[in-house]
Amino acid sequence: MSRLILSLDQGTTSSRAVLFNERGEKVFAAQYEFPQYFPQAGWVEHEPLEILETQLQAVRDCLHAAIDHSAQITAIGVTNQRETTILWDKATGKPVGRAIVWQCRRTAEFCKTLEPYKDMIREKTGLILDPYFSGTKLRWMLDHIPGAREKAENGKLLFGTVDTWLIWNLTGGKVHATDVTNASRTMLFNIHTLEWDKELLELLDIPVCILPEVRPSSGNFGVTDAAFLSVPLPIYGCAGDQQAALFGQGCFAPGDVKNTYGTGGFLLMNTGDKPTVSRHGLLTTIGWSIGGKVTYALEGSVFVSGAAIKWLRDELGLLRSAEESETLAGSLTDNGGVYFVPAFVGLGTPYWDSGARGTITGLTRGTTRAHIARAALEAIAYQTADVLHAMEEDTASLGEIKVDGGASENGFLLQFQADLLGRRIVRPDNVEATAQGAAFLAGLASGMWRMEELPGMLGGHTAFEPRMTQPERDKLCSGWEDAVRRTRSESFM
Ligand code: ADP
Repeated sequence: MSRLILSLDQGTTSSRAVLFNERGEKVFAAQYEFPQYFPQAGWVEHEPLEILETQLQAVRDCLHAAIDHSAQITAIGVTNQRETTILWDKATGKPVGRAIVWQCRRTAEFCKTLEPYKDMIREKTGLILDPYFSGTKLRWMLDHIPGAREKAENGKLLFGTVDTWLIWNLTGGKVHATDVTNASRTMLFNIHTLEWDKELLELLDIPVCILPEVRPSSGNFGVTDAAFLSVPLPIYGCAGDQQAALFGQGCFAPGDVKNTYGTGGFLLMNTGDKPTVSRHGLLTTIGWSIGGKVTYALEGSVFVSGAAIKWLRDELGLLRSAEESETLAGSLTDNGGVYFVPAFVGLGTPYWDSGARGTITGLTRGTTRAHIARAALEAIAYQTADVLHAMEEDTASLGEIKVDGGASENGFLLQFQADLLGRRIVRPDNVEATAQGAAFLAGLASGMWRMEELPGMLGGHTAFEPRMTQPERDKLCSGWEDAVRRTRSESFM
């Protein structure tokens, strides 16, 4: 009987489950969307039981597919939307409220009160003080949900990011654990000592008894319980989605870089076995931990990437489909002087300007929808270039860039990206990097694969080589810089 690895890819808008065969090829995938809740401006919530139910449904589809393939699932890997915060009752398993999603800005005011500690937070966690991370979201729950603090202090509640919530449920409440990558996004975890940090827990007033045990990304996370799945399956891997994509893209060596073009954009670089501190607005994070060895990464985040194309399609009605942006952009010989900075929710790396707002500059009577579509695609590439340049300032060597995510389907975007960076861009034929990363981590721990075998399992790719001259590049970049200046909030002018 052939063997399969089941990867659970729990995302922000949908829960996916993907089966990989022994050669690391995808053989089946199932996906279910779940509702998003926006109770106030800037707030984003999920219902933890809806996350669980959609994930289980996708898993059940995979179990049936495995039977159809006469194959046996030998291990599960989990990857997940990061930072999203869940608190639940240890005895009943019921969440005490909705999950506070990574995008939610409700703790912005509270973060301001922590300003005096921002250097200490950065030094210990590698993170920039921001509502993005779990710590202040958990504090909000303890302060605002009636009875939560008392129950938490009496050890009656459990905290987890989405990985922990899924693993706890899948194992029938036996395993309350997370992995180092997810822990490194909580703002409570010391990335040097690899422990929950006492000083940070005191600062945020969070009882240590509600926190999960932190384990390596590739290793034992327990066995699924009969109440959830008819067959007991061991869970052998766990990592946050961007770290899983870094691993799934085969960025195993220091200097290897991947960029995901999804709703937002996430550029991560493997920086080896020592944390690199950025002087240019990048986050230091844990890439993975395997066999007692920790690999660190630098990360830059672009808040609006493919979402700018979705906005042109859904809000302005300028595009019939996301794909149409490629044809329209390619129908022009140049950008016609039009620049679009989609700073809808401020600017992330390297600007960290939450007051910036979007602009389109250089409009003339001759501007067409093709120019706007092209400007949106170019903006995705300029923002990535801004992050990459910050990364270059922080580190000596950068290799080629591997890409994935929905908008990486767009050939115009990737060619422009290669041109703008003067670097080769590589798009793997298998764009399931996130799910594949979790499968790799589980397959390593379960003995299906050895580390040396993984590079040979990455499959084919398409390369985009730079063709632009330096003067052309300089001219475009100065146009972009000018447009960015016009979006900045007053405090930065
Ligand atoms: P996520 O995982 O963040 O939900 P995906 O990786 O599925 O996102 O990517 C979806 C995003 O990519 C959407 O914002 C969509 O507008 C954009 N997108 C999808 N296809 C294309 C395309 N061919 N060209 C440009 N953008 C695209």
